[in-house]
Amino acid sequence: MQIAVIGAGIAGLACARRLVDGGHEVVVFERSKTPGGRAATRRTEIGGFDHGAQYLTARDASFVDQVDAWSRDGVVEPWPVEAHSLQAMAGEPPVREPSTGRTLRWVGSPGMSAIGEKMAEGLDVRYQSPIVRIDPVDGARGTPPRWSLQRREVDSDVVAVTEGLFDAVVVAVPAESAVNLLGAEATIARPAGQAHLEPCWALLVGFAEPIAADLAKVGDAAFVNGDRLAWIAHESSKPERRAGERWTVHAQSAWSVEHLDDDPEDIKAKLLRAFHDATGTNEQPIYAAVHRWRYALARTSLSCDFLWDGERRIGACGDWCRGFRVEDAWLSGVALAAAISA
Ligand SMILES: Cc1cc2nc3c(=O)[nH]c(=O)nc-3n(C[C@H](O)[C@H](O)[C@H](O)COP(=O)(O)OP(=O)(O)OC[C@H]3O[C@@H](n4cnc5c(N)ncnc54)[C@H](O)[C@@H]3O)c2cc1C
Repeated sequence: MQIAVIGAGIAGLACARRLVDGGHEVVVFERSKTPGGRAATRRTEIGGFDHGAQYLTARDASFVDQVDAWSRDGVVEPWPVEAHSLQAMAGEPPVREPSTGRTLRWVGSPGMSAIGEKMAEGLDVRYQSPIVRIDPVDGARGTPPRWSLQRREVDSDVVAVTEGLFDAVVVAVPAESAVNLLGAEATIARPAGQAHLEPCWALLVGFAEPIAADLAKVGDAAFVNGDRLAWIAHESSKPERRAGERWTVHAQSAWSVEHLDDDPEDIKAKLLRAFHDATGTNEQPIYAAVHRWRYALARTSLSCDFLWDGERRIGACGDWCRGFRVEDAWLSGVALAAAISA
């Protein structure tokens, strides 16, 4: 079959790879310039920041095998960090809580984006190809429809370009975006509408010298229980990273919702203040930027592996089908590919 996959995140790439291995012709359409989706690395003049997924964990045996294979290829490395737990409320001194215990955490090498880059190797991925519509094209009675896609042309006056026809379509984008694309396909759109991803503002901050933070409290990574921050990580503590003092900071979901449409400069100032409060340092950064993940973490997922309408040959996969992690995205994509091939 000729199959279109929309989205080159971990789910879409995992699905596409298995479909190609199963003998299908697959084209992946990706909105941005790079693969990996939320498993991303922002490259800056002072080094990289993993501003989306911080690390991955592997529980399911098939994903453990995949991570082992990536490890052998040098795509991921263990990050031997002990993530602390930190209580940090505005106006109160930070308090370290008992450690969350040792978990085997893996990170992409030299950044989280290495995982998507590896997965995209050998696939026909069309970057800067945001899909804005999916339309069925009915064939002979009793046969499934074929599918045409419309994509917006980036940096041009052309509003939409038609792609296709495809025998099947896989939508591998966050649930809310999937619902927009799948609106008329109720058998997929209705359940997808039950999932919900919350936003996250991220602060990427770098210093000229190691900061005089109260590192005994923060360590190299901390889950923060607070009114503003949720996570702090010392980028430079990850393996195979460029030297330098770089930190990635994630805001709490509720805070991110409240400030979703605020001016990024205000967000930067507020998150930097929260970082100073939590780490007990006052150093001024040589680099600071923010990134808004409109759809970051699936707080409500579907408890299924994927969505698939076998009669119309259209489906959806992503972390939000079964959980909220990189592992869930990968498992969802692989499971959907198996269902399509079956
Ligand atoms: C701040 C943050 C922290 C996280 N921390 C962790 C963590 O520590 N550990 C962990 O395991 N997971 C973490 N996650 C979650 C993890 O990143 C996701 O579970 C996983 O990457 C989801 O993969 P996906 O393929 O389902 O979706 P995505 O990564 O969202 O991929 C979807 C892709 O589709 C593209 N796209 C969207 N719309 C269109 C369109 N219309 N046309 C074409 N392309 C489109 C997007 O550009 C993207 O590349 C975190 C996520 C965030 C944002």
